Amino acid sequence: MNNLLESPIEYLKGVGPKKGQLLNKELQVFTFRDLLWNFPFRYVDKTKFHLVNQITGEETTVQLKGIIIQKQLIGQGRKKRLVARLRDTTGSIELIWFKGVTWVDKFLVVGTEYIVFGKPSVFNGKINIAHPEIEVAKTVNQERPSTLAPVYNSTEKLNNNGLDAKGRRRLMATLLGKIDPQDISENLPDYLLQRTKLMGRFKALTKVHFPTSQEELEAARLRLKFEELFFLQLRLLQMKINNRTAIQGFVFDKVGDYFNRFFKEKLPFELTGAQKKVMKEIRQDLGRGYQMNRLLQGDVGSGKTIVGLMAMLIALDNGYQSALMAPTEILAQQHYNSLREMVNGLAVRIAFLSGSIKGKKRAELLKLLAQGEIHILVGTHALIEDPVVFQNLGLSIIDEQHRFGVKQRAKLWIKSKPHPPHVLVMTATPIPRTLAMTLYGDLEVSVIDELPPGRKLVKTIHKNENYRLRLHGFMKEQIALGRQIYIVYPLIEESETLDLANLFQGSEAIERSFPKPDYQISIVHGRMKAADKEYEMQRFVNKETQIMVATTVIEVGVNVPNASVMIIENAERFGLSQLHQLRGRVGRGADQSYCILMSSFKVSAEGKQRLKIMCDTNNGFEIAEADLKLRGPGSLEGTQQSGVLSLQIADLGKDQKILSTAREIATRILEKDPGLQNPLNEKIRAYLAKHKRRIKLWSRIS
Ligand code: ADP
Ligand code: MG
Repeated sequence: MNNLLESPIEYLKGVGPKKGQLLNKELQVFTFRDLLWNFPFRYVDKTKFHLVNQITGEETTVQLKGIIIQKQLIGQGRKKRLVARLRDTTGSIELIWFKGVTWVDKFLVVGTEYIVFGKPSVFNGKINIAHPEIEVAKTVNQERPSTLAPVYNSTEKLNNNGLDAKGRRRLMATLLGKIDPQDISENLPDYLLQRTKLMGRFKALTKVHFPTSQEELEAARLRLKFEELFFLQLRLLQMKINNRTAIQGFVFDKVGDYFNRFFKEKLPFELTGAQKKVMKEIRQDLGRGYQMNRLLQGDVGSGKTIVGLMAMLIALDNGYQSALMAPTEILAQQHYNSLREMVNGLAVRIAFLSGSIKGKKRAELLKLLAQGEIHILVGTHALIEDPVVFQNLGLSIIDEQHRFGVKQRAKLWIKSKPHPPHVLVMTATPIPRTLAMTLYGDLEVSVIDELPPGRKLVKTIHKNENYRLRLHGFMKEQIALGRQIYIVYPLIEESETLDLANLFQGSEAIERSFPKPDYQISIVHGRMKAADKEYEMQRFVNKETQIMVATTVIEVGVNVPNASVMIIENAERFGLSQLHQLRGRVGRGADQSYCILMSSFKVSAEGKQRLKIMCDTNNGFEIAEADLKLRGPGSLEGTQQSGVLSLQIADLGKDQKILSTAREIATRILEKDPGLQNPLNEKIRAYLAKHKRRIKLWSRIS
C-alpha cells in the first residue's frame, strides 16, 4: 500500500494549506513522497559544542550550549530588534534577531538552557550571532536520538514561515513517524542486497534523515545513491538495446573499390590501433541492417577525420551518398580541402555547400546532388536546409557535435528514404568514462584513445605579466624559425565589450612590438563579418601573417600545422575543456610546440588548479576527469541540457565508483535476463514499470 506516500503534503500534521503551498512553490514538494525524497544536503554533529571564549568570528557555523542570562527588546516598529545574551562555562555572547522578534521574545526564557546554532560575525569589534537556530536544551535531548542533525535546502520564504531548519526537522520527524516499512517497498531483489550488502530501502530512507552515526549515514546514502544510479543505468541500457534494433537501416555489406583503392594507394600512414578498432565497430554497425547511431570520441588530433572518410567510402562502395557537417564555415572548408586532397586521384566526387554558396552555383550543385553526381557533400548547417535534396543519402557525419542543437541534427536524419541515414557523431570534447555512461548511456560509443605515433607533446607553461618581455623575445625566436603564433583572448558574453577592449589593447601592444613590414598580424573576432574572418584566417593559413590574434572563434578544429605557439591571455578565465581545445590548435606539425598560459597575478585556488592540470598533462580524458572532479558534471560542456543530470542524491562527479558498479550490475542482469522476466528480478521489473520516468538525453539524435 503506497498510497500514503502520494498524500498531498498539506495533509501532513503541521503543514496545512499555507505551508503546503509554500512547499509546492519553493521546493516542488507536493506529496509525502516528495518530502521524504528531499534529502539533507549536510548534517551537523549535535553532540559537539563550541565554547564561547574560543569563537573567533571566522567560523561558518558554531553550536553553543548555554543559559540565556538577559534579553532586551530595542527600538520600535520596523527597527525593533531583540538582543539576548547566552552564557556558557567560558563566557557570554550576544544573540540578535531582527525578524520574528515577538515570537522569539516569547520563546526565550531567561535562566533556561538552550542550544544555539548559527554563524558568528564580528560587529564593532564584538562577536555576535544573528538569527541563530535556537532550541531548549532539555527538549532536544529528549526528542533527538540522532546525533547528526539534518540540514535541508531552504529559502528565505520557508525560513520566515516556520519552515526553517528546526521546522523542517520537526516536519520530517512527523512524516517518518507516519510511515511503515510497507509504505516503502524494497525495489532491489534479495540476491542483490545480499551480494552488495546494501542497506534495505526503508531503513535507508529513514536513516538518511536522522542517522545515529556517521557510519549509518554513509550506508544509507550509499544505498540511495546506488538505487538511483542503478535504475538510471538500467533504463539507459534498455534504451540502448532497443535502439540497436529500433530502426531499420541501409545495409552496407560491401567493401569495394573506393575503399580498397584508398586504403592501398592513398592512405598516407598506418592507422593506429584505436583507429582500426573503431573502423571495425563502424563496419559492423553499417552491415547490421539497422541504423547506426554512434558517437566517436577522440581527443584533438587523434585522427577522427580519416575514420569518417573511410566510412563515407564504404557508403559509396554500396552506392550511397554521404554528408559531412561541421559547425563553422572555416572548419567545413578545411574538411573539404583535406578530404579532396586525401582522395586525390580517385573518382570520388566531393562538393562543398555553405550559406555563402549562392545563385547559379548553388542551383547547379543541388541539381548534381539530386542526380547522385555528388558522392560526398561537405558543409555547414546549410546542408540541412530545406531545398537540399540528396539522391540517396546513406550516411551523415557530424563533426564537433556539441555545436549543433538536437533539432538541427534531427533534420539531417529525415533527409533520406526509405531509411534514415546512418549517423556518426564525432566529438573532440573528451568526456570522462563514467559520465559518458550516463550522458550517452543509450548510444553506441567508440573511443580513439591513442594519438598517432611520433606526436610531440605540447610544452605548457603558466606565466604572469612579469614574463611579458621574455614572451615577446620567445615569439620573435619562433617567428625567425618560420613558425606561426596564436594569441587568444577570452570572450565571455557578459563582459563582451570589456573583453573586446582587451583584445584591441592587446593587439595594439603586439603591433608595437612586432611592427610592419617585418611582422604581419591577423586579427579575428566574433564581431567581424564571416567573409572578413575567413579572409584573415586564410592569410594566416597561407603564412602571409605570422601572428593570429583572436578570440575563441578559432577554438574548434582549425588546422594550421605550421603554428607552433599558442598563447592564451587571461587563461584563468577559461574552462579546462576550452583550454585543452585551444592547445589542440598547435602540436599538429613536426615541430616542438608550446602553449603559454598567461594569467594575472591573482588567481583563485580553483583557477590555479586548472592551470596546473594543463601544465601537467596533455591527455584530454585526464583533463575532463579532473574538470569533473573540480566543478561537477553541470559545468561540462553540453551537460546542462541533459535531463539525466538532475539526480537527487548521487553526484556523477563524486560517485563514479558507485556508478561503475551500478552500470556493471545492470549490464549483467540485462545480459542474463533482457526482459526482466526472471521471478528473481520481479522487484526490479515492477519498480521500472511503475516509475516510467522519461529520460531526456541530449545525445539523442531524434
Ligand atoms: P581530429 O581527431 O582532431 O579531427 P584529424 O583527423 O584532424 O584529428 O587528424 C589530425 C592529424 O593527424 C591529421 O593531419 C591527420 O592526417 C593525422 N593522422 C590521422 N591519423 C594518423 C595516423 N594513424 N598516423 C599518422 N597521422 C595521422
Ligand atoms: Mg577534427
